Amino acid sequence: MTEETDVVVVGGGIAGLITARELGRDGLRVTVLEARDRLGGRVWTDHRLGRDLEIGGTWLHWVQPHAWAEVTRYGLEVTRGPRPEEAYWLAGNEVRKGTLDGFMELIDPGMRRLLHETMRWIPRPDAPTSAAGLETVDRFSVQDKLDELALPVEEYHANEAAWVGHFNAPLEDGAFTSALRWTAATAGSWHLMHEASAVFRLASGTRTLVEAIAADADADVRTSAEVSRIEHGPAGAVVTTSSGDRIQARRVVLTLPQNILGDLDVSPRLCAEKRAAGREKTAAKGVKVWIRVRGPIEPFFAYSSAAHPLSVVRTEFLGEDDAVLVSFGADSRRISPHDVDAVRAALRVWRDDLEVLDVTGHDWMADPHSRETWLMQRPHQLTRYFAAQQRAEGVLHFAGSDYANVWAGFIDGAIESGLRVAREIRTAH
Ligand SMILES: Cc1cc2nc3c(=O)[nH]c(=O)nc-3n(C[C@H](O)[C@H](O)[C@H](O)COP(=O)(O)OP(=O)(O)OC[C@H]3O[C@@H](n4cnc5c(N)ncnc54)[C@H](O)[C@@H]3O)c2cc1C
Repeated sequence: MTEETDVVVVGGGIAGLITARELGRDGLRVTVLEARDRLGGRVWTDHRLGRDLEIGGTWLHWVQPHAWAEVTRYGLEVTRGPRPEEAYWLAGNEVRKGTLDGFMELIDPGMRRLLHETMRWIPRPDAPTSAAGLETVDRFSVQDKLDELALPVEEYHANEAAWVGHFNAPLEDGAFTSALRWTAATAGSWHLMHEASAVFRLASGTRTLVEAIAADADADVRTSAEVSRIEHGPAGAVVTTSSGDRIQARRVVLTLPQNILGDLDVSPRLCAEKRAAGREKTAAKGVKVWIRVRGPIEPFFAYSSAAHPLSVVRTEFLGEDDAVLVSFGADSRRISPHDVDAVRAALRVWRDDLEVLDVTGHDWMADPHSRETWLMQRPHQLTRYFAAQQRAEGVLHFAGSDYANVWAGFIDGAIESGLRVAREIRTAH
């Protein structure tokens, strides 16, 4: 038997839930099909190491208009981790110790030079491909542009590690335009971009945001409902799940990340650009690791280089007899978030006085329902594929943070994309 509804939303992450909420308000019958046994997708608050940890997306900021509107709408409390008292970084093989301000001063000249043409190339982050000749700069990686600066080794490693933290990827894979898009979203200020992407978080976790949107959505939301096939035509689509359920809908919203969208069995198949982007994959292939160490310790942060398994680490929770650190590396194949010994060795790059008690995380790259962390495009992807990735195909619409204009790859972008697609469907009726 085939059920009928107005709209099927594939994916119950932030983008899917926002789309469902908006369309439910319009009086449409909406069914959300989520493959995992939980909602939220790449945001996931889970209780581990004695704390509620963000296994995926975490930080948001008031310069992210869509995310902040949800914070205001649901009255969500925002907090921040402890301010680092100490900073560690590398100059070649030597460890330097200083302050946060000292580190920021060290990377400032490189950041300014790297990003000085931000507003020339991305004058309107809400229309990221609007600059004439953008393709001439979209062919470069961040690595290309960093190398051009010929920075002294200490500045070079510090800048490199800061960008690995942002890109969650080897820098030769990440498009320079992605760095420009992030910075354009904060009107050219790298300081503000840095703060927006890595300081403030929801006090009770992203779980509270997911729950608030889901509770507000007048929709039939189903978990453990993986979509395996979509057949579509001018009059509507039939969506089939892995367990064989079939739902007929007038429109379908797909919210799958770039790295898995092309794998879905869609007939007629998706346009060549969407499939090519999926084959090429995004640049991001890194890892986020949570580390519990014996305390008390002073809050600190540390940056190494792209070559190290962990490039960035900092204190996120301070207890009386322990502390929990959050850490990022460029390549998930180089370190497992579950390998205590490997994490212990990675930390010794900066300090040998920390006693690692436990580690945790999630291998998002191996997860069949994401196969990526957060969007960082590769060279050429912005100018070759982005417009087509956003474009509806008949009754199929495409939401998801990966296809957002301003804060693509962020929670904010997921919300923006859900609002955009809901409007597309509203105006199509
Ligand atoms: C480690 C990590 C750290 C991050 N840090 C930050 C941060 O600090 N700040 C920030 O703003 N962003 C951060 N992000 C990015 C942010 O979490 C994502 O951009 C955002 O959550 C994506 O939302 P989405 O709805 O577009 O996609 P997703 O959350 O990926 O949602 C897609 C949904 O589709 C489901 N799905 C997949 N296949 C199928 C199928 N066949 N059938 C049905 N359902 C399917 C998935 O299970 C998923 O729930 C981070 C992400 C990760 C992984």
